[in-house]
Amino acid sequence: MQTNTMPAAASVLVTGGAGYIGSHTCVELLQAGYRVTVLDNYCNSSPEALARVERITGKTVQRVQADIRDGAALRDALRSSQAQAVIHFAGLKAVGESVAEPLHYYDNNVLGTVRLLQAMQDCGVEQIVFSSSATVYGDPVRLPYTEDHPFAPTNPYGQTKLDVENMLRAQSRAKPHWRIALLRYFNPVGAHPSGLIGEDPQGVPNNLMPFVAQVAVGRRQSLNVWGSDYDTPDGTGVRDYIHVVDLAQGHLRALDMLQRGTGGQCTAINLGTGQGCSVLDVVQAFEQASGRKVPYQIQPRRPGDLPAYWADPSTAQRLLGWQAQRSLHDMCADTWRWQSMNPQGYASPVTA
Ligand code: NAD
Ligand code: UDP
Repeated sequence: MQTNTMPAAASVLVTGGAGYIGSHTCVELLQAGYRVTVLDNYCNSSPEALARVERITGKTVQRVQADIRDGAALRDALRSSQAQAVIHFAGLKAVGESVAEPLHYYDNNVLGTVRLLQAMQDCGVEQIVFSSSATVYGDPVRLPYTEDHPFAPTNPYGQTKLDVENMLRAQSRAKPHWRIALLRYFNPVGAHPSGLIGEDPQGVPNNLMPFVAQVAVGRRQSLNVWGSDYDTPDGTGVRDYIHVVDLAQGHLRALDMLQRGTGGQCTAINLGTGQGCSVLDVVQAFEQASGRKVPYQIQPRRPGDLPAYWADPSTAQRLLGWQAQRSLHDMCADTWRWQSMNPQGYASPVTA
């Protein structure tokens, strides 16, 4: 069991806290005794997620429906919650959409973060955990990715993550009291073991695990496997899938590090398992965990996909005392519980 030393009544503002990773992090924060205020405009989430967070924890989430580009709303939320720290999830994350609508991505992700940092500065809040991504590394020049791997994002979404990281590095140089954690996530999957919260993508899922889950539950006929001719053990793409509860717990450890001042002023940390799994590994594990068949067809490669990458998670181990605990089987079993209890995501009635 990982412990946390921040005082029990510490208050955290969570932007984008109704989303997939944010809602799981809120559960862990509440269970660890934090007071939690979520600021979200629900552009890619449902307030129902927060009702379910409260149901899981038996605790209350303060909610502010607002956009992170609204400085006045941010200042109000920071002051009324007396937040000591911010966890910043709010942002747009669809790679294809970022190629089609780059300005929308720079506006939301970069300008939104400028507004957030200005509001924090105005209110004297100087600790932030930022949701970055392995996508900042781009084409691997060596594997596993270490935090000092060169940056080469290959799409506007990834570029916005790198731009925000650069902005946070500049802020930390200018304001030495600030404490900043840049958490670079690998491929978050899975769901809370209660089956009450999970990933609820709008429309056709772009990511592998939610697509597989929708095939298993009968919402879609079969999976397209994008490419089987990569230089990987079975020819399909390899990624470092990480259980969302492990990821959420990494955020608590990062907050703890900021509070103690043990991690430097602005520190990038990979959050992954260190293990690569292929598309067919995921299909097989999901069939085992769910007892359902997942029919699939091999298709040509998806444009822009990298063949394989995974994390070196040793910085997280060293600085946070954190390492992923949950297996690929756990990721699939928990995804399946969420999917089968909520075939239509948050639009489904609560069955437990
Ligand atoms: P998500 O879409 O489920 O959650 C994002 C939340 O932010 C949503 O609730 C959305 O309504 C909110 N939001 C978006 N723009 C906003 C704005 N302008 N103002 C207020 N709220 C806004 O996504 P997620 O998977 O939970 O990802 C959370 C963060 O982690 C994102 O920044 C994402 O880029 C990053 N990330 C995600 C992954 C992944 O694979 N899921 C990987 C790496 C990094
Ligand atoms: N993938 C696939 N079929 C799908 C979705 C994804 O074969 O319907 C593959 C994809 O080519 C990649 C892996 O699954 O090798 C993970 O893809 P995802 O979109 O989930 O994550 P990302 O590519 O952003 O790491």
